[in-house]
Amino acid sequence: MCGIVGYVGPRRAQDVVIDGLRRLEYRGYDSAGIAVVDDGRLHVAKRAGKLANLEKVLADTPLPATTVGIGHTRWATHGPPNDANAHPHVGGSRRVALVHNGIIENFAELRDRIEADDHVFLSDTDTEIAAHLVELQVESGVDLPTAMQRVCQQLDGAFTLVAVDAEDPGQVVAARRSSPLVVGLGDGENFLGSDVAAFIEHTREALELGQDQIVTITADDVTVTDFWGRPVEVKPFHVDWDLSAAEKDGHDWFMRKEIFEQPRAVADSLIGRRTPSGLLQLDEMRLADEELRDIDKIIIIACGTSFYAGMVAKYAIEHWTRTPVEVELASEFRYRDPIIDATTLVVAISQSGRPPTRCRRSATPAANGRRCSRSATPTGRRSRGSPTR
Ligand code: GLU
Repeated sequence: MCGIVGYVGPRRAQDVVIDGLRRLEYRGYDSAGIAVVDDGRLHVAKRAGKLANLEKVLADTPLPATTVGIGHTRWATHGPPNDANAHPHVGGSRRVALVHNGIIENFAELRDRIEADDHVFLSDTDTEIAAHLVELQVESGVDLPTAMQRVCQQLDGAFTLVAVDAEDPGQVVAARRSSPLVVGLGDGENFLGSDVAAFIEHTREALELGQDQIVTITADDVTVTDFWGRPVEVKPFHVDWDLSAAEKDGHDWFMRKEIFEQPRAVADSLIGRRTPSGLLQLDEMRLADEELRDIDKIIIIACGTSFYAGMVAKYAIEHWTRTPVEVELASEFRYRDPIIDATTLVVAISQSGRPPTRCRRSATPAANGRRCSRSATPTGRRSRGSPTR
C-alpha cells in the first residue's frame, strides 16, 4: 500500500508533504517523491529507497518555498523500484505532475494510443500514462478537475490519483476508485492523504471520498463531484483516534488491522490478473496446461507466514484438483532427501522476495527433470498486502 499526500494552504508544502509521508511510512514503500508548483513551473524530486534518501536530496537542493504540493511513497507494481519509476510522474510538457496508488489495468492500450503521437515515456509504470492524459486535457483548455474527470472515465482498474497543474497552482485535484483517499479539512488549508495519519497533527476534521469521486482542494474550499462532474455531498467526520490508533486504522493492534485487511489485500493482488470471463491469468507462471495435467504431486516449501499460507493453499489445491500437496518448512527441506520426480511440482513461496531455499543436489537421479523454483511470488510485481512487520 503506498502513501499519498496533498496540501494547499499557507505553510511550506515541502514540510507538510514530507511530514505526511513520514506518517504513512508504516504502510510500506520502496521509493518516495514530491512535486511542488512555483511560478508556473513544476519542481519534482524523487528517489528510490527510504524517505531519508529523498530528504537528503531536498537538504542538498531544497524545493522552492511554495504552499501547494503532492507527495507519494511507492510500492511498485509496474516497473522496478528505481528513481525513474518513483512518483510523481509528469506529462510531456512538464505542466502536470501526478501521483498514483493502485493499478491502471488498461495503461498499455492507452499508452500505445498516444505514443503514436510522439509522446515519450520516461518510466515503466502504469501511472505515467495518466500524467500525460491529464496534461493533454488541460492543454486542450479545460480546467484540472474537468481534465481529471475525462481521464478517469477512460481508466480501468483501481486507483487514487492526485495531480497539480503548474499553470493553475492554487489547487490539488484527486480521484478515487477502489483505493483509499481522505481529505483533511483545515482552517485556511486543506489536505489529502491515503489515511488520516497523513494530516492528523494538523486537523481532525475529515471527509472520506466515495467510489468514483473527484475532489478539488484549494486553501479555502473542498469540492467533490463524481467522474461525470455531478456534485456529490460527502459528510465530514471527526477523527478522535490518536496518531498511533490512526496508523492502525482504529484497530488496537497492527495484527488485527492486517487480519481485517486480508480480503482487500487478496482482491488487490488479483487486479489485472482476471480475464474478462473471470478466469485467473498468471502470465509469469509459464506452465503449459499439458505440463500441469501431468503433475501428480505438489510440494510447497516456505517459512513462517508463508508456510501458513502454504497450508491454506494445500486445502484449496487438494479440494479443487484432487492432487496431493505436501507443505514443507524450507529450512528442513534443504536437508532432506525428498522424493521428487518429473511429475512433481515444487512451489517455493517467499514473502520477502528471497528464495526460501535452494534446489540442492542437482545430481540426484530422482531430481532429474523436476520442476523446481517456480516461485509463487511473481517477479517485478509485488503482492499488495501489508508489509511484514
Ligand atoms: N502502479 C503504480 C506503480 O507501479 C503505483 C504503485 C503504488 O500504488 O504505489 O508505480
